[in-house]
Amino acid sequence: MRGFNPDRGFGVYVHWPYCARICPYCDFNVYAAKARDTAPLFDAILADLGGWRERTGARRADSIFLGGGTPSLMTGEQVARVVAEVDRLWGLKPGAEITIEANPDDAARFADFAAAGVNRLSLGLQSLDDERLKFLGRTHSSSDALKAFDAAGAAFRSVSLDLIYAQPGQDAAAWQAELARVLELGADHLSLYELTIEPGAAFAFAVKRKDWAPLDDDRSAGLYEITQAMTGEAGYDAYEISNHARGAQHQSSHNRIYWASGDWAGVGPGAHGRFTTGEERWATEAADRPGDYMEQVTSNGLGWAMAEKLDDLAHARERVAMGLRVAEGFRVGDVHELGQMPDATRVAEFMREGLVSASEDRIALTPEGRLLADRIASEIAP
Ligand code: SF4
Repeated sequence: MRGFNPDRGFGVYVHWPYCARICPYCDFNVYAAKARDTAPLFDAILADLGGWRERTGARRADSIFLGGGTPSLMTGEQVARVVAEVDRLWGLKPGAEITIEANPDDAARFADFAAAGVNRLSLGLQSLDDERLKFLGRTHSSSDALKAFDAAGAAFRSVSLDLIYAQPGQDAAAWQAELARVLELGADHLSLYELTIEPGAAFAFAVKRKDWAPLDDDRSAGLYEITQAMTGEAGYDAYEISNHARGAQHQSSHNRIYWASGDWAGVGPGAHGRFTTGEERWATEAADRPGDYMEQVTSNGLGWAMAEKLDDLAHARERVAMGLRVAEGFRVGDVHELGQMPDATRVAEFMREGLVSASEDRIALTPEGRLLADRIASEIAP
C-alpha cells in the first residue's frame, strides 16, 4: 500500500528546544533556557500544527510526543493547549498515548502535565550515581530523581526511565550493581543508551584533549550483553535495540510509528517529520534556530526549512533501517511493494553468521546482530 496506511500510525512530535543547562554529551538541537519569554515560540508551534493539518488532511492521531530539549520546562497550560490543538485539528484516538520527556528537576509540574492530558512520562534519570550525574553535567541528584520517579508513578499510566551506561571507567560490576538498583524500581519502561561521543558535543573536545577515554567497543558490547540479560530476567521485553517494556501496553506507541515508517508531524525548531499524501512520501525538517523557525512559520505557515519528496528507493531503505530496530524486524513485502528488494546474498551471509534471522515474510536481527544494527541495515537495504 503506497498511500497513507493508518496501521503504521500517525503521531505528532513537538520539539521544545530549551534546557536549563546544556549537557556535555548532547548534540541535539538545544539552547539554554535562561529567562526568555517562550510565548512567541509557543505561538509559532501552534501555528505550525495548523500548517501541518493542511498538508496531511483529515486523519486521527495515535500519539503526541513532547520531546526536546526539555519539554518539562513548559507550563502545564502550554502543554494543555498543545494537546487541545492536536485534538481540534486531527482528533485524538481514544486512549491516544501522550508522552512528555521530563527532567527530575521539574517534578513539581507533573500533576499539571497529567491534568493537561499527558499519560506517559519519560524521566531523564541517566544514572543513580551522583558522581556520574555530575560527570554528565546533570543538574539533579539521584535522590531528586527517585522523588521525581515516585511523583511520576502517582500521576501517569506509564513511566519510562532513561539511563546512560558505558561511561568511562564503568566496569561490568559497577554497571551490574547500578542496573540492579534501577530494576528494583520497577519502572514500566526503560530506555538504556550507551554513552556516545558526538562530534561537536563538549565531550568530543574532552576526549580530544585526552581528559578521559571512552570505553572501547568490546567493553561497551559486554555491558550491552549484561543489559539485555538482566532486563530480560527482570521481565522486560527488549522490543527495540535500546528499549525495554514490561508488557506490550508499556511499549512506546509513538516511537513504534517511527520504526514502522508511519507518518508524523514534526513541529518545533529542528523537528523532522514524514507524511504521505496520495502516493507521495515526504520528509521534512524544521529550521533549527528558534528565531529562524519563528520566521519560517510567520512567512510560510509552516516551520519547514526543508521538504523533500522521497523516492521509492529512499523510502524502502528507511523501512529496512527502521524496521530492523524492532525485535520482529521488517516485513519483506513492505520493501517489495515499493518495487525494491533487500540484498538476498547479504541476508544469507548474515544468517550464516548468526546475526540475522528470517521467518515467513520477515527479516530481523538476532541478539548478536543488534550490536551491529546500523552496518547490517546499510548492507542489506536495497
Ligand atoms: S537535558 Fe537532554 S536535551 Fe537538554 S542538553 Fe541535556 S541531554 Fe540534551
